[in-house]
Amino acid sequence: MNLIFLGPPGAGKGTHAQLLMRDLGIPQISTGDMLRQAMKDGTPLGLSAKAYVEKGELVPDEVVIGIVKERLQAPDCQKGYILDGFPRTVKQAEALAQFAKIDVVLNLALSDEIIINRLSGRRVCLKCGATYHISALNGREDCEKCGDKLVQRKDDSAETIQNRLNVYAAQTAPLIDYYQEKGLLRTVKCESTVEENYRAVRRALELA
Ligand code: AMP
Repeated sequence: MNLIFLGPPGAGKGTHAQLLMRDLGIPQISTGDMLRQAMKDGTPLGLSAKAYVEKGELVPDEVVIGIVKERLQAPDCQKGYILDGFPRTVKQAEALAQFAKIDVVLNLALSDEIIINRLSGRRVCLKCGATYHISALNGREDCEKCGDKLVQRKDDSAETIQNRLNVYAAQTAPLIDYYQEKGLLRTVKCESTVEENYRAVRRALELA
């Protein structure tokens, strides 16, 4: 199954993609994780992406299209994959259609108020990609899965969160209509707990 997880920042795309990866054995392909890894490693891709990512702006289409196109050719994508955070513009979606056949687009929907609460309290592990909310950490500062130190993403600051929401509304939300017209869209409300939301995701994929 080739899936796209669409939704605003903080909707739970990464969290649910990781759960689904565990359950279905297909890889999560997160352009945000790939860009952060490249930034951490100081590669040319990372250096060119840094300014955009830290301000909450989108990295140019050609750059992300290139990295996704290459990644989808890897052997682990043959049985399916979960695209998390790509496409984010109509141009990216049109490019994707040239080199991939998508089965379902899951649109994770929630209010701005919940998004702001989730993102401002989010802590992430840059090593394994796990994410947490400070309300559930009880003062813990390291990753439960790999022991690395948890950090707050630079783009999870209050000012940048608002910018990311604006960017989402202007550039990514049009993909809802785009995929609706193609008959691929399924919308899942994701305002509850991770467990409850994940059950809704599985139901939408007819896995429950
Ligand atoms: P995410 O982890 O998906 O929230 O992505 C973090 C940041 O990486 C975004 O705010 C963008 O700066 C950049 N990014 C991730 N995916 C894309 C994409 N498909 N197109 C452009 N920029 C992206």
